[in-house]
Amino acid sequence: MKSTQIRLASRPVGVPAEADFDTVEVSLPDPGEGQLLLRVIYLSLDPYMRGRMSAARSYADPVDVGAVLVGGTVCEVLESSDPKFAAGDIVLSYSGWQTHDVADARGIRRLDSATTPISTALGVLGMPGFTAYAGLLEIGRPKPGETVVVAAATGPVGSAVGQIAKIKGARAVGIAGGADKCRALTEEFGFDAAVDHRAPDFVDQLKAGVPDGIDVYFENVGGPVSDAVAKRLNRFARIPVCGLVSGYNATAAPEGPDLLPDFLRRVLTQSLTVRGFIQDEFVPAQHQNFVREMTGWVADGSVRYREDVVAGLDSAPGAFRGLLAGHNFGKLIVQVSDDPTS
Ligand code: NDP
Repeated sequence: MKSTQIRLASRPVGVPAEADFDTVEVSLPDPGEGQLLLRVIYLSLDPYMRGRMSAARSYADPVDVGAVLVGGTVCEVLESSDPKFAAGDIVLSYSGWQTHDVADARGIRRLDSATTPISTALGVLGMPGFTAYAGLLEIGRPKPGETVVVAAATGPVGSAVGQIAKIKGARAVGIAGGADKCRALTEEFGFDAAVDHRAPDFVDQLKAGVPDGIDVYFENVGGPVSDAVAKRLNRFARIPVCGLVSGYNATAAPEGPDLLPDFLRRVLTQSLTVRGFIQDEFVPAQHQNFVREMTGWVADGSVRYREDVVAGLDSAPGAFRGLLAGHNFGKLIVQVSDDPTS
């Protein structure tokens, strides 16, 4: 069996360039005892992948130059040498940017295509949905009547944060780039207000959108959005620090005054709680609750989701560049091959 793979050709400086990716075709070995031969149907593209392309120290090891880029995938089992799986099963694996994979069955989960579309295992019912659920409920802890603000709000993490906040009785305010995304926040996802961070009057829009201040700021982006939000935080506000996507392609520190002393003064005088997290720390305590609750919320329509599906593995580098620039509208997924369930 052959696999087409996209490998990291060089470590990007700033925005990843076409030349930082290399496409190769390899022959895969036959699956050994306990292994599966997989055909990749869907590949998830996520902002964290930019960190894996860099050699900077982080919570996970970088992808080596010359190695296949990592990523969550939904696959069909073509051959199984493990009694728990059979040809035709649809599974969640971590096969990365390639068309086929030979993988250990351990760590691979069978998906039930009868209940939910299989692509949701990469988005609302997968890692991004779990990130929203665990980060908001474990750290943000919204109370009825409080105001929750989240940016990158039409993405898989942000849209789930706002909708879970609503389920918990809070007021949800989403920050997104552009009028179309802002319209979707209120009309499609049920946020109470939407704020366009690309508009010239962004700061005024934010002020108008949070008349009672902000009790939970779910930090997805950093940069000027966070600087504006910081001025509206209420006493005892909680800030789950989930991501800082505005800076993932940065090659230098931001220009302008150092705002850290002012922020720390607010942390002190407003008794703020700022807590970073990586979603997998909450898996043991919360994953079962997430699966049960989120599956129910998606089924009854209290959590909606949007997917942005691009066709073909070769579109992955360009789509990934677009993700960090806000070109995606919903969970970004590459359809690598036919989905037999749709
Ligand atoms: P999204 O699909 O929302 O994509 C990223 C979005 O970020 C873009 O669409 C864009 O939306 C927004 N964005 C890009 N640049 C800027 C900027 N300069 N200012 C403001 N917004 C910007 O991504 P996800 O939902 O998958 O992820 C959201 C965040 O959660 C990321 O920071 C990611 O790294 C983080 N994350 C963290 C995890 C953890 O365990 N801590 C796990 C999973 C995700 P727009 O057009 O609206 O500006």
